[in-house]
Amino acid sequence: MPIRPGPPETAPPIPVALAHLPTIGGLVVPWVTPRTADGRYLLGAVDAAKTRTAIHRRLCGVCGSCLTDRLVLLLRESDLPRYASTEPGVHPHCAAYTTAACPMVAGRRSHYRASAHQIGEDAVHGADLDQRLGAPAEPWHAVWLARYTVITLHGHPAASYLLIPPLRIRPIGAAPQRSS
Ligand SMILES: [Zn+2]
Repeated sequence: MPIRPGPPETAPPIPVALAHLPTIGGLVVPWVTPRTADGRYLLGAVDAAKTRTAIHRRLCGVCGSCLTDRLVLLLRESDLPRYASTEPGVHPHCAAYTTAACPMVAGRRSHYRASAHQIGEDAVHGADLDQRLGAPAEPWHAVWLARYTVITLHGHPAASYLLIPPLRIRPIGAAPQRSS
């Protein structure tokens, strides 16, 4: 039996642009989310092939459509010095939904999950999963860009803005909760 997540802490309204995507507990499942052979979505993991495709073809990781002349990279604080993300860029409206819906990005969870999902061979965890498991959550930032260049970071394609001045960089949500 698939394990169903509990009810979401908050389920923001689903924008029309995301109405084609599946939902779990009222939350949109991002396009880039891997699916197991028995049909479960692995929220928090990313599908390797879709991630590669999205970064190279400049598709949005949330809705799967082409990015336009305004895109957002959602980066953890510790990723900012790399000027790059190994996860796809997203539309500004998809970023707004993600920051409202994703407990990790919105800073509503104090720690990352302590163990990785069991995932199939077609899916990968984020490139830095090993460092994240069980680690204290950290602030996220929205990096607004007009475009990005594709680089290779630790063997993974990444969207880089090293040579492209961001339009703006904004911290997201509340500071992460302190663990008690
Ligand atoms: Zn989108």
